[in-house]
Amino acid sequence: MVTAQDLAWARQGLALKRQADEEEIARYIAWRERTERTLRAKRAAARPAPQPAPRPAPTSGPNWRVLEHPRASHDELEAFARRVWDLAFHAVPWPTGWAVRWAELTHSDPLALVYGECVPSAKLILIDERAQRGRTPREFLTLVLHELCHVTHPAEVHGPGFQETLKRVVAYMFEPPEPARVDASRPAPSASSPPSLTVADRPWLRGPFSHLGVEYRG
Ligand SMILES: [Zn+2]
Repeated sequence: MVTAQDLAWARQGLALKRQADEEEIARYIAWRERTERTLRAKRAAARPAPQPAPRPAPTSGPNWRVLEHPRASHDELEAFARRVWDLAFHAVPWPTGWAVRWAELTHSDPLALVYGECVPSAKLILIDERAQRGRTPREFLTLVLHELCHVTHPAEVHGPGFQETLKRVVAYMFEPPEPARVDASRPAPSASSPPSLTVADRPWLRGPFSHLGVEYRG
C-alpha cells in the first residue's frame, strides 16, 4: 500500500534528480563554452598574421620596358639565368627577389644598342630582345654573366671588384673542357689545333632562343 508519505518522498526524489540533471547539463554547457573559447584562441594564435600583398614588379622605367609578348618566355630566360648563376656562383643561393625579363632598352643615342641592364631598385635584370639577334651563344652568356655580376656588386658600377668577378666567372664558364683520356692507339691531337669550344661541349651555352630555330652566327 502506497502511503501519502511514500508519494511525498517519491516526488521529492524526482525533484532532486531533475535538479541534479539540470545542474549537470548547465555544467556541461559551461565546460563546452570554455573549451570552445580556448580552442578559438589557440586557432587564432596559430594562424599566421595576414601578409601584405606582394608589390607587383614594375614593368617599365626610364629607358626600359618589359616586353609583353617576348619570343621566348620570360620564365625560360630566367631559368637560363638561374642555371648560369648556379654554375658561376656555385652554392650561393639565387639573389632574393630578383627576376630576369626580356625588355626593350633605349638609349639617348638612337643608334646605340643597349644589350642588358641591371635595375637594382626593381630587382630586375633586363635583356634587350632585339639586340641579341645575331649574337653568339658566348656573347649572350657573357652578357648574362655581366648583369649577374652587377647584382653581386651593387655599390660599384663597373669598378675593379665588378671587373675581377666578371673575369673570374667568364674564365670559369669558358675554360676548355677536361681533355678526354688519350687512347694510346690513336695519334695524339696536334698542339696546333686546340679543341674548340662548341655548344655540344657546353649544353648550357644554348640560350633561350635556340629551340625557336634562331641561329646564332659565329
Ligand atoms: Zn654593366
